[in-house]
Amino acid sequence: MSSTPKIRPAAAGRAVLLVLAAVAVLLIGTTESALAATGGAGTPASGPSSGSGAGAPSGEASAGNISLIAARTWPHKSFYFGFRYPKLVFELASDQPTNDIRIDVLDREGEVVKTFYRDDVAPEARYRIRWDGTDNDGRPAHNGRYSFRIGPQAPAPAAPRYARRATGSSTIRLGFKIFGFAFPVLGRHEIAGGAGRFGAARSGHTHQGQDIMANCGQTIVAARGGRVRYSKFQSAAGNYVVIDGKSSRWDFMYAHLIEPSPLKPGDLVRTGQPIGIVGRTGDASACHLHFEIWGPPGWYEGGSPFDPYPFLVKWDRYS
Ligand SMILES: [Zn+2]
Repeated sequence: MSSTPKIRPAAAGRAVLLVLAAVAVLLIGTTESALAATGGAGTPASGPSSGSGAGAPSGEASAGNISLIAARTWPHKSFYFGFRYPKLVFELASDQPTNDIRIDVLDREGEVVKTFYRDDVAPEARYRIRWDGTDNDGRPAHNGRYSFRIGPQAPAPAAPRYARRATGSSTIRLGFKIFGFAFPVLGRHEIAGGAGRFGAARSGHTHQGQDIMANCGQTIVAARGGRVRYSKFQSAAGNYVVIDGKSSRWDFMYAHLIEPSPLKPGDLVRTGQPIGIVGRTGDASACHLHFEIWGPPGWYEGGSPFDPYPFLVKWDRYS
């Protein structure tokens, strides 16, 4: 992986900083510098291996009157199976030395998609949560805006009455976005029409992908991370890469790369990770990325290609 192109993934969105008390400025200041080392863009193949454990609700949930001293969530935008999972750092104030709390990930409708339980949370101590983008059933969450919500665990039926003392004012939301796919070309590009469209007539066959016009030398990133299946040269496709998209059942094919991708079959790539450079190798009259998506069981394994255009348009809006 050391020969991977030395190009950073797309810059992450601005971190959201939420300061609820003057004292928090100091706390956050040290938090940021202390976390910079682990919160950075990272290098390809060193992405997160997992999110935080969900934990389990406490049998006798108990929390004092809790309030948030400081909280921060970042990055503002991330991708499913990407380099950086959405993270939350928080500190509570409470009149109890230990507090059983829950951290919910809510979608924009306010539905809980994922819950983390943390027992015996101490006041004025820093806690971290990292969400891997999957819901409580382990499936990738839908594209869109989400938020972390911090509050006391719901009291268990047999819980003592003091467990109910926590109030709604102890709950706060911290927003961020997560997307399932990245647009595969960084920088200026044009999703081609006419002969560049999926299904366009070619001599002896039809066009099985969608062309994305861009300058030779621009970076190609994985629309969805996953396992590399092929990294080869072929007379028509030129240098190409096929990636089995994590949790998507789709294969993604990228063709006409300027030089062979440093990736090898079996390599794991992250969504948004650079996988090659736009070129015109093979049967290509201009610099562009030829991009295919195949349904299960996969690329030339019995699956069939389908039109990537509507997806590309969607991904282009937020990437
Ligand atoms: Zn093409």
